[in-house]
Amino acid sequence: MSSFDRVLVVDWSANATPKLGADSIWIGSAGAGAVPPQNIPTRRACMDVLRTEIAAACAAGQRMLVAFDIGFGFPRGFAAHLTGRAEALAVWDWLAERIKDDARNANNRFEVAAQINRLFPGTGPFWGRPNGHDLPDLPAKGTAREGHGLAELRDTEALCAGAHPMWKLYTTGSVGSQSLLGQAHLAALRAEFGDALSVWPMERREAPVVLVETYLSLIDPAVKQAQAGYACKDAAQVDLLARAFAKADMVQLMDVSAAPETLREEGWILGAGHAAHLLEVLEPAPLTPPRLRNDCFAMPQGVDWVPVDEALSRLRAALHPLTAEENVAVSQAGGRILSQDLVARRANPPAANSAVDGYGFAQTSLQGGGPYTLPLVAGRAAAGQPFEGAVSHGYTIRILTGAILPEGVDTVVLEEDCASDGARVAFDGPIKPRINTRKAGEDVVAGTSFLPAGRRLTPADLALASALGVGRVKVHRHLRVGVLSTGDELLADPNSDAQPHQIFDANRPMLLEIARKWGHRPVDLGHMPDDPERIAAALDNGARECDVILTSGGASAGDEDHVSHLLREKGNLSSWRIALKPGRPLALALWQGVPVLGLPGNPVAAFVCTLIFGRPALSLMAGCGWQEPQGFLVAAAFAKTKKPGRREYLRARLDAEGRAEVFASEGSGRISGLSWAEGLVELPDGAATIQPGTMVRYVPLSSFGL
Ligand code: AMP
Ligand code: MG
Repeated sequence: MSSFDRVLVVDWSANATPKLGADSIWIGSAGAGAVPPQNIPTRRACMDVLRTEIAAACAAGQRMLVAFDIGFGFPRGFAAHLTGRAEALAVWDWLAERIKDDARNANNRFEVAAQINRLFPGTGPFWGRPNGHDLPDLPAKGTAREGHGLAELRDTEALCAGAHPMWKLYTTGSVGSQSLLGQAHLAALRAEFGDALSVWPMERREAPVVLVETYLSLIDPAVKQAQAGYACKDAAQVDLLARAFAKADMVQLMDVSAAPETLREEGWILGAGHAAHLLEVLEPAPLTPPRLRNDCFAMPQGVDWVPVDEALSRLRAALHPLTAEENVAVSQAGGRILSQDLVARRANPPAANSAVDGYGFAQTSLQGGGPYTLPLVAGRAAAGQPFEGAVSHGYTIRILTGAILPEGVDTVVLEEDCASDGARVAFDGPIKPRINTRKAGEDVVAGTSFLPAGRRLTPADLALASALGVGRVKVHRHLRVGVLSTGDELLADPNSDAQPHQIFDANRPMLLEIARKWGHRPVDLGHMPDDPERIAAALDNGARECDVILTSGGASAGDEDHVSHLLREKGNLSSWRIALKPGRPLALALWQGVPVLGLPGNPVAAFVCTLIFGRPALSLMAGCGWQEPQGFLVAAAFAKTKKPGRREYLRARLDAEGRAEVFASEGSGRISGLSWAEGLVELPDGAATIQPGTMVRYVPLSSFGL
């Protein structure tokens, strides 16, 4: 049996009253015409939905799989003793004649089970009933049974960890109750649809619609991961299992040639023994992109000072996205980066509707230039409450904003422009065709790709995706950014008492917070004294826990610059001397394949280097592409003469006139200036003379994502 065009998975229920929500009936669908999981209050209503679906599939010439989370058979020996035939389907018919289950779920399953127990020797096999529901032949406890002569489990259940026995009628996993009721309903369905339906694996007929039993817990790991995106666990189970069946290798799944002889009698769980395959088709093992090449940061021989722009384009060329993808619910996806384009499952709006409250009609009903009077039809069309009938030519109907245009309506007049006595509506002309209406798909057409891979999802994107029926999205896993400080002089805890030669670690909290603000996952790698072995151990740890490591301090070529020594020895260090102020060399290396950006120790230089180089580099590695900050030309509020050679970034902010003022001191140890600044003024690589009023490039911190 090959693949199916459409798959339904039904989480059935034995509830004795109508019920919605967790532990009630859910239908998941996948393939042609799939819709989000449907919740249905009663078994009768569920069967009606299935009848409609089956008839529709048959009419459309589609093959459909309908899977139920119940047992289709009982342990061997049961069918023959009960019906004279060792066949599960004979039990279905036996039950269909005796089970009563009304439109509000009231049913006699316990009585029928007691009746069956009387037909078997000893006590049992069925057990479990509500307190106070006293049936002498139906023990309340499983341990009270003896001598009925039947096995506890079916052969197929041995392959499904945690499967409950078919004999259990009450409390958690009362698969027995669900199956008694389910088999009776399915017997009726078989009788109705005849050859169009076959039951697997008991009937080996090819039929358009195949009924199977399955076990929802087969895919528990996937359900656990995805559950937050669904109304409840049952909804996640039916949706995911339907998707899995739609994608799975059905030939393999339905091959029961190796199964025991008892198939026709006991049935078989579709998917039993194939959980790994189902999980794999649901969420293919994430592909982790290849690591960076060892020589990716190498500078050509003889290059001494590198201009900022050249350093940026070299960095861009050296890097690529490093994170695998994962599947998340749209509600959880704000700020995440798409790893695949999003495609609209549905149009917006899905159907033509009214843009205002008013009266709708066919525009061709209007004769002459107006004023017009049209008779009003009974009823109204409102959002969520469509008018079922058609509006005849020459008539008008009350219509509210968002209501689907009823058949016969293409134009709406505003309520405020009308007079009505309840039987007629009068208004002035002229009225343009289709005025005050919205066309189906006028915003977005179904099937269009509406957001590209690499996009960081905004709040508005979540609205758009939801409106277009996209409930789950593939995104990049978070980029894990390790932050390590080095230096003998550093003290981690600002609360501790410092010796005069000690300073508090300022870079680490700053860099961790920057990484977090950029939407990455900050990983605190602590601070290490200038001790090569300890720094190496911290980098080892970072290489295990992170996708990229930022270090600060010890990055130039001085005696105490252990980070660069170490990276030169073991990490393919490439020290880039960048023509940038503030900022000394940027150390770029790979530690066990993980990129390391060695930032200057000076907090101001560390900050500027992180914004200029770290931001686009991390963004690219995170899957969001290379990001260039947007700057603005503004008048300077300061004077400065700059020599050629190095690009300069000054701590700046806009004054009351919108001119850029700069921090009083350019000293790179002045952390207070960083706090004071709201942006950076960028002075070009060449010489420059700035007077108050000269236009300079100002880049607000918000342009750097801060
Ligand atoms: P280095 O790059 O190690 O030569 O350090 C340059 C300057 O930055 C020195 O004055 C260091 O004390 C200072 N420094 C290094 N790391 C930090 C840090 N994490 N927090 C504050 N200052 C630092
Ligand atoms: Mg140092």
